[in-house]
Amino acid sequence: MDRNQWFTEICEEGGSAFSMKIREKLHNEQTPFQRIEIYATEWFGNLMVIDGFVMLTARDNFIYHEMMAHPVLFSHPSPENVVIIGGGDCGTLREVLKHGRVTRVLQVDIDERVTRLAEEFFPELCVSNNDTRADFLFEDGIAWMQAADAGCADVIIVDSTDPIGPATGLYTEEFYRDCHRALGNTGILVQQSESPLFHMDIINPMRKRMRSTGFNDVQTLFFPQPSYPSGWWTATLAGKQLLSETYRGQDAGHSHLQTAYYNAAIHQAALAAPEFFHKALD
Ligand code: SAM
Repeated sequence: MDRNQWFTEICEEGGSAFSMKIREKLHNEQTPFQRIEIYATEWFGNLMVIDGFVMLTARDNFIYHEMMAHPVLFSHPSPENVVIIGGGDCGTLREVLKHGRVTRVLQVDIDERVTRLAEEFFPELCVSNNDTRADFLFEDGIAWMQAADAGCADVIIVDSTDPIGPATGLYTEEFYRDCHRALGNTGILVQQSESPLFHMDIINPMRKRMRSTGFNDVQTLFFPQPSYPSGWWTATLAGKQLLSETYRGQDAGHSHLQTAYYNAAIHQAALAAPEFFHKALD
């Protein structure tokens, strides 16, 4: 934060930076895993930063959280058991719990402090934390997945930090193999997969690893995310079955979910990939 009260995240690999005007710094803490900072901004509401990277703002998190939850849940024939790896701010959890078919959601985040600070500074994301279907574990999602029972989950949502620090292992072949084993035979994994403009070197290998670990279908969704590098983001789904065959389009079209971004048309539009993306996939 400079002396004129701007928070700036520099994205070295994109040669760019994004700044938000700050009112005040509300919190600053080094946990055993990462540095967490919370700011009050002028126009984006409260802002959470982990290790210098924007995690979420009150103003635009709805796009990311809805796109992490609803496309994958409407792509599964009967999503009952959901596991969220990461997701400590609880925004994705809130969206998942909007689905009546979901009977249990287990959230496994390595750092309890993220959830406690979300409760304090982003209470609107935590409104469903006391839902009887929600359970919380504060431990490493990589180790949890290694030990998970075969077929225990219908949907796995990896809502983690970038592939650095404690999240590095969440982008490996070993982790995807463990997810594949933990999913039932119509199971689907979805993971946040960075910027299509800046991070094809992450997205491309990720998609290949998903296929090489046994997933039969891989789809990348594109959506805007103003406070992330380049303002353009992706989530990648990996299904054991063909995702277009298990997609519940009728349900997505007629759902009465309270959303601000997601609807069935947005879902279809998000699946359209730009030309450079097709060319980069060999
Ligand atoms: N939307 C965000 C983004 O893309 O920048 C992610 C937000 S969420 C706060 C990320 C969470 O991942 C953090 O709470 C962090 O503690 C968690 N995390 C990182 N590595 C993890 C691991 N190995 N197991 C479980 N959770 C992890």
